[in-house]
Amino acid sequence: MPRYIFITGGVVSSLGKGLGAAALASLLQARGYSVRLRKLDPYLNVDPGTMSPTQHGEVFVTDDGAETDLDLGHYERFTGVHAKRTDNVTTGRIYSDVLAKERRGDYLGATIQVIPHVTDAIKAFVLSNHDDEDFILCEIGGTVGDIESLPFLEAIRQIGNELGRESTCYLHVTLIPYIAAAGELKTKPTQHSVKELQSVGIQPDILLCRTEHPLPAEQRAKIGLFCNIRQSAVVLARDVSNIYEVPLAYHDEGLDSEVVRHFGLADTTPDLSHWKRICHVVANPEGEVNIAIVGKYTSLQDSYKSLGEALVHGGIANGVKVNIDWIDSELFEQEDAAIQSLQHVGGILVPGGFGERGSEGKIRAVRFAREQNIPYFGICFGMQMAVLETARNLADMPDAGSSEFGDTKLSLVGLMTEWTVGNETLQRSADDDLGGTMRLGAYECHLTPGSTASRLYGEQVISERHRHRYEVNIAYRDQLEAAGMVISGLSPDGSLPEIVERADHPFFVAVQFHPELKSKPFDPHPLFTGFVAASMEKSRLV
Ligand code: GLN
Repeated sequence: MPRYIFITGGVVSSLGKGLGAAALASLLQARGYSVRLRKLDPYLNVDPGTMSPTQHGEVFVTDDGAETDLDLGHYERFTGVHAKRTDNVTTGRIYSDVLAKERRGDYLGATIQVIPHVTDAIKAFVLSNHDDEDFILCEIGGTVGDIESLPFLEAIRQIGNELGRESTCYLHVTLIPYIAAAGELKTKPTQHSVKELQSVGIQPDILLCRTEHPLPAEQRAKIGLFCNIRQSAVVLARDVSNIYEVPLAYHDEGLDSEVVRHFGLADTTPDLSHWKRICHVVANPEGEVNIAIVGKYTSLQDSYKSLGEALVHGGIANGVKVNIDWIDSELFEQEDAAIQSLQHVGGILVPGGFGERGSEGKIRAVRFAREQNIPYFGICFGMQMAVLETARNLADMPDAGSSEFGDTKLSLVGLMTEWTVGNETLQRSADDDLGGTMRLGAYECHLTPGSTASRLYGEQVISERHRHRYEVNIAYRDQLEAAGMVISGLSPDGSLPEIVERADHPFFVAVQFHPELKSKPFDPHPLFTGFVAASMEKSRLV
């Protein structure tokens, strides 16, 4: 029987609940426990797949092909535990399932209500699909007091009641703001937020209080008193300079000790050596390198969350700090000279993206990287643009385009209407819904021996996660290869190009999948390690 830790947030959003949950899970792992992390999202979208990246941040894709909230990325990066489809649910999904059951007549004529039908569906989601983990950490999205979160809070209240306090723990993350004019930290918002939680029947066991300043002991005692929590369970979460310091910082404040004590477990010493090593490397880099990310969603860096982190990991592997220049690709379309700004970067990366807007600017960035021998790393859309660049500028196919942009004379990149997964043939048409109809999740890829990709991976068969609708058309392989673009990774049946590279360039690798989703600070992704190393080399030569 697992133990459940429910993580809620109060006062304001963006308190770093997801990071806090991930850090706590990693601290429990460091004490020898197995963990699984889950996110319950109160919004009405069925999944975040169709949400704008500039509004909601990146869509994180799991091995089993679910489009999930970006917090699942933090969970994986901090724990190394791969998330599953059953680790993220939204109100939209819960209601779709309940309504489908109602239409089928599964409720035998009952009146369908939020309590118990919706709350039962939430409880069933939380309580099922475990692998015998010691702890299930379940984060509730949003802020306590939001109308949407009420059914979720009711469901976790019921679970606490049914399983007993020895199997459940409520952790509430709040903010203690500093009022500069008064020179004081204010505890009132935290008190109100706990009251809000108590009003729906949940008494938090532990408070994790985000603050920019140290909290005097009397303030801490006051919070404990007013919130009905013992003082040691009021844990401070001071701001830290990089996210990988969070586990160590929370441990120093006693978070994991408080959690194990809550469950009546021995307060042993966790092994935090890997976090200490990572923090040491991040705090003491031996150099720096500038990498340009040329994309479309650069206004909100959360849209490329895993990408930014994977570059940090590539930096950790090389002992250097990676500085990212976020560049809107449309800039290269508006001003001819703008492309010269890329002259001074160590590497150029074109990430995933959707739609025609900004694509010509990305193709210009690829061309510049290729011609100026600047390391280039293309991801998903960044591979498709690299292929179009070669086709147009080196393979005498000036009309090469992608069917994503509407009718094109020459579909170098086109919609796959049929492809195989194992023994199954999947089909889709141009008129399918946008939600959940892409090639999603982990697929095997076979590498060409001797290629840069196979050298970096150190193996011939890899598995990486996908999220795209269009594919590079294998029919043009000969023309692309004659123009120096080698297809070094293919789907097992040989029909889908998964990696392209150039032998006549210091580093030119572009992949159809999203390697950033699998990179971890303690296990940096080999393609990012290789790209950062090549970018370092380039910076040294400049
Ligand atoms: N828009 C492209 C496609 O759907 C690429 C998607 C992506 O970069 N994730 O194929």
